[in-house]
Amino acid sequence: MESKDFGMFGKVTTFSIDPSMDLDSVIKSLASLDPAFDPPPVVQSPTSAATRGSPTLPAELAFGTKDCANCGQSNATLSCGGCFMAEIAQIRVWYCGKGCQRQHWSKHKKSCRARQKLARAVEVINQLWTAVEMATFLSQIEFQGEKNGIITIRQKKVRPDPLGWTGLPIIRNVSSLFPAGTSDDIQRAVLFDHTCNEVIIFGRQLLDIFIKPVCKEMQQVSVMTKNHALRVQCLDDQHNGIGHNPILVTLPTTEKFVIDFTGAQYGWKERLYTWDTYTTHRATPVGPVTPLITRATYDALPGIVNCAPNSLQKASILIRDFAIKGMTAGCNVFLQTCGFSADALLSLPKADFDKGCGDLVSLAKGGLDGALQDLQRRGIGRVFYYDMGFNIAATMTDADVQKWKEVWLTEEEMASAKGNVNALKDTWITKMLDSGLGALLAGR
Ligand SMILES: [Zn+2]
Ligand SMILES: [Zn+2]
Repeated sequence: MESKDFGMFGKVTTFSIDPSMDLDSVIKSLASLDPAFDPPPVVQSPTSAATRGSPTLPAELAFGTKDCANCGQSNATLSCGGCFMAEIAQIRVWYCGKGCQRQHWSKHKKSCRARQKLARAVEVINQLWTAVEMATFLSQIEFQGEKNGIITIRQKKVRPDPLGWTGLPIIRNVSSLFPAGTSDDIQRAVLFDHTCNEVIIFGRQLLDIFIKPVCKEMQQVSVMTKNHALRVQCLDDQHNGIGHNPILVTLPTTEKFVIDFTGAQYGWKERLYTWDTYTTHRATPVGPVTPLITRATYDALPGIVNCAPNSLQKASILIRDFAIKGMTAGCNVFLQTCGFSADALLSLPKADFDKGCGDLVSLAKGGLDGALQDLQRRGIGRVFYYDMGFNIAATMTDADVQKWKEVWLTEEEMASAKGNVNALKDTWITKMLDSGLGALLAGR
């Protein structure tokens, strides 16, 4: 970038432009050079300092005055160990002493078992879904930094990006986005940014295996989140980032809980809350409770499959579908081999459940990896430029791969060009012409 003096027009900043680029790509390249940008201020609901920015809700907010479930005395110090899931849930039933717990057990037993199974199902899917997101992370963004809980990212817009001639897999290693030392919470917030519907759509088979058998109803609820511990702000796309769709479950006991698998995008640690706790401290419901969105509805949404960059989205959906299919197969193999229903697995004594859960998750991850390796080997789910307008296409089938793979630049060709974009482009054009795909280059 340099400044030139244009006399009466004053100094104008110009950009150095590669003369071989066409007008389209010049415009695209200018568009990527946004001026400095101030993120809009964070909107915080008026609330106590303790709530604001809490990764884990403080006990006084999650549990109020800790009333004994039996005698009602406040400041109880013991809680039922059966339904206490410290890592992922803000759910505890308090007692002032063992006597009260014993007396109350016949009343609490049903609810305790139902809550425990739900919390375990959430724990299983939380591990599975984190693995899916990490393994299929499609990064089109650059991480800018984090300040006062606001994480700034921006869209990657390198055109032409020499990698666009290589047919590289579109999956990125999420940790490669961040400088060394970036906290796990920040990485997770970026990983899960804008993914609340993905777990419902792509993860539906997993929800059906593990959550459905332990509850009376699975629904979703539209909320505006508040009191974020972290927030992701995309500088190129002014989404407000606070509209969110967690899952609402009703247990057979009629108790209502919110499952928020992707709450890490707001810096939150818990995945499971009582409805009251969630809607008081984490989010405000803004729409009616509705059935879980179906895949057909999702696919029909404008802007999902049909929007630009169309092919990226399509390839990403294809990859996820394969990944989940592999993972679901792994889960089913585990359950069939053990002769367990999911409900029976979730009802095991703690030590047995922990072991079973560990085995299940590793088998499921094996299924996921196998599916992705299969795609990788076949060359499916690659995106690349196919014309001089730097439009992106994706390989969705083996036939696509056959058609395109001979024009992709090889590692050797990339290395021998030593970063010279024009040399790479010449090589690519030659390959396009040699493969009979020269017509696509019209207008260069
Ligand atoms: Zn008591
Ligand atoms: Zn309990």
